[in-house]
Amino acid sequence: MNKEEQIKLIEDMQKVVEQMRLDDIEEDPETAEELFECSCCGKTKMLAGSIQYGKYRLCNDCVLLAETGLAIGKFKNIDELVKAMEDTRLQEMCEFIKQQEKRENN
Ligand SMILES: [Zn+2]
Repeated sequence: MNKEEQIKLIEDMQKVVEQMRLDDIEEDPETAEELFECSCCGKTKMLAGSIQYGKYRLCNDCVLLAETGLAIGKFKNIDELVKAMEDTRLQEMCEFIKQQEKRENN
């Protein structure tokens, strides 16, 4: 797959994933209000557009990452993605703690 094909694939996937979110909200408006903690990015996201992959529930943004990553062959399964994201998640957690410390020191 060349670069152009990859970009095309990502664009197509963005539409599909966004449509999933809209469909979820249409089917059940409460999914836009309901929150959960994404297994992948660790952020609190709306339930709409999220997908359960085995033991993980991924938010709409991470579903896009997962589906494009799998299609391009960046990783073979969701486990690999979640592990790769763990570093990012740790960084965010560290930032959060640092921020808290600053606040408490002031
Ligand atoms: Zn996520």
